[in-house]
Amino acid sequence: MILIFKKDCTAEQIKKVELKLKTDNIENYMTVYKGSKIIVCNGDVKEIPEYVETKNIKTPYKLVSKEFKDEKTIIDVDGVKLGGKKIIMIAGPCAVEQRESLIDTAHYLKSVGVDFLRGGAFKPRTSPYSFRGLKEEGLKILAEAKNETGLKIVTEVMTPTDVKLVAEYADVLQIGTRNMQNFQLLDEVGKSEKPVMLKRGMSATVKEWLLSAEYILSQGNPDVILCERGIRTFETALRNTLDLSVVPLLGELTHLPVIVDPSHGTGKRSLINPMAKASIAAGADGLMIEVHPCPECALSDGEESLTFPQFANLMEELKGITKTFGRYL
Ligand code: PEP
Ligand code: MN
Repeated sequence: MILIFKKDCTAEQIKKVELKLKTDNIENYMTVYKGSKIIVCNGDVKEIPEYVETKNIKTPYKLVSKEFKDEKTIIDVDGVKLGGKKIIMIAGPCAVEQRESLIDTAHYLKSVGVDFLRGGAFKPRTSPYSFRGLKEEGLKILAEAKNETGLKIVTEVMTPTDVKLVAEYADVLQIGTRNMQNFQLLDEVGKSEKPVMLKRGMSATVKEWLLSAEYILSQGNPDVILCERGIRTFETALRNTLDLSVVPLLGELTHLPVIVDPSHGTGKRSLINPMAKASIAAGADGLMIEVHPCPECALSDGEESLTFPQFANLMEELKGITKTFGRYL
């Protein structure tokens, strides 16, 4: 059961309920959702005062569930609204590699209608000998690209101690697949003012994914975007299996916006275009796509990056698709 205090509740009234829970031995967790004080209780509470609204939410995740809030969450990132009718386009290289090429990429992406520039400055790599990103220097290059183009920035944060630094540069903090269950990191971004894009763990169930989102909301940050990026299955023909059925499923389970990353989801350039279209048809609120001026020279993920002309062509083709599904680019 969750208890939602009416907005004009006094501290004394809240204290009274807390004391009652203590005497009744009901384990509970105090949190806040967009200014409303909430207590998540492990158990049922009797004799509820009139200044408290209750909800019996059956799923283990509470604040992210549709039962808590039926209306879709729209995240306003400095005027760009995520979760509404507009399909949000996030594009850019896997990693920030070099100043000039990133600035050129940003200008190009802006000219074809992209909303957010992506690019990792802190790169989680399978091998310690692979390129691991330019760190703060990379963040500074992203900031320059933003200054020149007005594109918003999505970039990954890998550790709790880097959250403050990355949040100085990012408009949206990205949590990568490998960190979806890094609970200290989730707690830390949950305390940040910046929206968080939570990528699905490569072996995570939907329940685990939503519980990770719950970590962030339970720390007071209501702005989480879920990103399907492919999961590990028995299939080895592709880097990952892009689970598109999860998009309408999440629409039934949560009010949070959902985007799809067909680059990591397939690992194969030629499949990005059809899977991007399929994502829109499935109801995604946006797409994240890797784009590189010279994919074969990329320091990471070149094989799943589109060239500029391929990306421009996709943007053109998506205009018709989005319209068919009552959305726009
Ligand atoms: C990325 O988007 O840069 C990335 C590393 O993706 P993932 O965490 O999904 O592998
Ligand atoms: Mn990548």
